[in-house]
Order: sequence, then structure tokens, then C-alpha cells
Amino acid sequence: LTILGIESSCDDTAAAVVHGVAGKASILSNVVFGQTEIHASYGGVVPEIAARAHAEKIDHVVEQALATATKNITEIDAIAVTAGPGLIGGVLSGVMCAKGLSAASGVPLIGVNHLAGHALTPQLTNEIEFPYLMLLVSGGHCQFLLVEGHDTYTRLGGTIDDAPGEAFDKTARILGLPQPGGPSVEAASLQGDSKVFSLPRPLLNRDDCNMSFSGLKTAVLRARDDVISKHGGLPTQARADLCAGFQAAVTDVLVAKSRRALAAARAIAPSVKTLAVAGGVAANGPIRHALKQLCAETETFFVAPPLALCTDNAAMIAYAGMLRFTDGMIDDLTLSARPRWPLDQKSASLTGSGK
Ligand code: ATP
Ligand code: FE
Repeated sequence: LTILGIESSCDDTAAAVVHGVAGKASILSNVVFGQTEIHASYGGVVPEIAARAHAEKIDHVVEQALATATKNITEIDAIAVTAGPGLIGGVLSGVMCAKGLSAASGVPLIGVNHLAGHALTPQLTNEIEFPYLMLLVSGGHCQFLLVEGHDTYTRLGGTIDDAPGEAFDKTARILGLPQPGGPSVEAASLQGDSKVFSLPRPLLNRDDCNMSFSGLKTAVLRARDDVISKHGGLPTQARADLCAGFQAAVTDVLVAKSRRALAAARAIAPSVKTLAVAGGVAANGPIRHALKQLCAETETFFVAPPLALCTDNAAMIAYAGMLRFTDGMIDDLTLSARPRWPLDQKSASLTGSGK
């Protein structure tokens, strides 16, 4: 099978061609046009601007993905497109583009849940079988998913407020470090001592898989203000210590909750052998290392796809579409774009008004 994937739910306009079969697929092309610079001066993604940029770029990105894969549209078996969840203007750009291509070429159309794309990515890069546990940690998401099949997910828990990536970004802003905050906080923490500031580990001892990161960011803000009032500024060493302390707190929470989530997943599906991570925060060295250690301790395989596939991309959408296509789950031109779409909501048909 050869599947074209299209993704435009946040601030990346992406298209990709994936070839193969379920469990054995390879990426022929993976084009991502990021909007980071477009939104940089606003301190966050502006939905209206994102929608316009997607609409402007999407045809070109799709053309480039097909050209790089040396395929024309008639050689494609299905067009898979993110139908949600996400910023509705962006999702609509992708869905309209996919519908236009499908209507003009007769190639079947398949709507894909963006989170399913992330959750299935480990199968695109590693030979792992269902069921497995997925930890999705990005700028916008933080959740544990038991993945028992390409359309069977159980959410075991997640953040009740900020996502960790968001907390890294806000912490960087508080400490005057550049965006995106994850890499700059990680780099600064190399010179820091995580024990200098005592920062909270919210919900750590609660016996569930839920997490909270917004109090942690507030604690960083308070600690920074204390330092400033004492020293009349923020010394480089204190900034590094705060970064190290913040990162250690996030790591502790993710590891403790992953341990609980593994137990919860195995209570439902005893054959779970793998913990897979995805999302931008999975790029963090110390977090990765600590999760790997947890896996070694609990006889669990650890899978972390390469960063380019952990963050938003269309190869994951094409692969998720391949699995749906294989199961005969095809949509038609009434496919709707949805801003909200929980993964554990069954989705045999996406066509028609958002069910
Ligand atoms: P989503 O995909 O959930 O809609 P997003 O597009 O913001 O959200 P990603 O692109 O997956 O998410 O990841 C970006 C986030 O990852 C940012 O918040 C960034 O700070 C964080 N991040 C990137 N690298 C690192 C790192 N080394 N350590 C910690 N966080 C990181
Ligand atoms: Fe995403």
C-alpha cells in the first residue's frame, strides 16, 4: 500500500508518503513546513495566522511530498488526513485539501485522529506489537494511553493542567531563556545543581496516573523572585540551578507516574511489554535516561522514535491511515473536521457531523 498523509492541526504544515503494510511500513517522503518563526513574536501559536499559513502552504507541501516519493496521485491507494483534534482552522485546511485531491482523483479519503498518529508512531520505527503503553508528552499533550489496536485506546491518566512541554516553555520565559523552552532549559541545567532549590512534585503520591505541572512553574516563578529580591538580579548559577531543579521535578513525576501506568496497563492487558514515548519532551536527555532506567527495572522494552517522528509530522498520519484502510475504514466527502476528539471514543466512521 502507498498512503499519502496530510497534517495541519497545529503549527506544522506537513505531508508524507508511506509505503508498505501494517507493522512493516517505510517512509518515502516526510515534508514538514514549521511555522515557529511566523508565531515567534507573539509568544505562542495564533490560530488565525496559523490557519492562513496552512492554507497558503498546504498544496505546495503535498506536491513536494509526492515529488520526493516519486509518486503521482494515481499511484496512491488512500489519502489520510488529520481530522482533529486541533486548531479548527488548520484542521480544515488539511481536510479541504484532502477532499479536493480525493474528489479530483477518485483516491479514497480517510480521516485520522492526530493523537492516534502519535500513538502508532512506535510501530512505524520499531517492530512492536499491540498491546503497548504509550506516554505522549509534548507542548500540548500529556497522557498515558494503553494501545491495544489501531482503533482501541484506553486513557489511563494525564495532566490535569499544563503539559510538560508548556511548563518547560513557561519556565524558560520566567528565567529569560529562549523559546522553545525545552532545549534551552535542558542546556542550562547542565551547569546546575538540582538540589539547590526545593521544588514541588505535585500529585506524586496520589495512587493514579494523573499529573500536574502548573504549580511547578509557579514555584519556579516564586523562587526566581526570591533570588532577584536578594541579589538584585538573577545570577547565571541560580538560573542553572532552577533549570536543573525544574527538570528533575518533571522527571521524577514522569517516572513515578509511568511506573503506575505500567501497572495499570498490565492490569487491563497483561501482555504489555513495551513503554513507548512520543512528543517533543521525549527529546529530553535526562527524562529519556530515567524512563529507560525504569524500563530496565521493570523488564519493559523502551521505545523512543527519532525526534522528527516524535513531533508533529504527516508520516504518522499516513501510517495510521494505512491501518484504517487495511480494516476497510474509509470516509467520504462529508468527513468533518473536529476541534475536540478524545482518542478513547470509538470512531468506526468519521463521516457526517461530528459524532
Ligand atoms: P502537540 O503536538 O501536542 O500539539 P507541540 O506541537 O507543541 O504540541 P511538539 O512539537 O511535540 O509539541 O513538542 C514541542 C514541545 O517539546 C515544546 O514545548 C518544547 O519545549 C518541548 N521540547 C523540545 N525539546 C525538549 C527538550 N530537550 N526537553 C524538554 N522539552 C523539550
Ligand atoms: Fe502533535
